[in-house]
Amino acid sequence: MGGSGSGRPWGLGASKCEDHSSIDLAWLNRQGILKRYGWTTITWSRGGEKTGSIQVKAEQRGLRLSYRTRDWGGEWEPIEELIPFSYSATNFDGRRRWFRCPSCGRDCRVLYGGKVYRCRRCYGLKYQSQYEPGFGRALSQAQKIREKLGGYLCVDDPFPPRPRYMHWKTYRRLKAKEAKLAQRYTLGLCARFGILL
Ligand SMILES: [Zn+2]
Repeated sequence: MGGSGSGRPWGLGASKCEDHSSIDLAWLNRQGILKRYGWTTITWSRGGEKTGSIQVKAEQRGLRLSYRTRDWGGEWEPIEELIPFSYSATNFDGRRRWFRCPSCGRDCRVLYGGKVYRCRRCYGLKYQSQYEPGFGRALSQAQKIREKLGGYLCVDDPFPPRPRYMHWKTYRRLKAKEAKLAQRYTLGLCARFGILL
């Protein structure tokens, strides 16, 4: 098992953010990993070369992560952490599962790895001063839309539900716009770190 690296898991072609070692709950679900008993190894690669890996295990309360990490030139340090699941109601089949970020307590779908795995908001805060103006603006525009709907400001959080006074058409338009802005922000964030494929 390697350390925490950059790249994307094999087969995660649709992932928006390609530079971090990210863990996408929807991807885990599609791979059947959430229903599997025992540990699964996820590997990230770039240009055909393995850049990192992590072991995950779905438990009732959350996703258990096991990996090694080290500071530049330092000793390898084993880390094991349980990222709790949380659930929200959906219109159709009852409930949707999220990661609950251990640092800020918000629901998110994607965890980003550095030394620990956290939501994009927590991960991004660390680097906020380095944001390029272009994609920083995309983020604030996306947040403005969320604010208007009275929802979570983090673009990785669930999109806010439609306020009762708002037409579906308007709501869907805002949702699509927000998704585009959030993607621009993510791509900018990736490019900022210079590790795009
Ligand atoms: Zn967080």
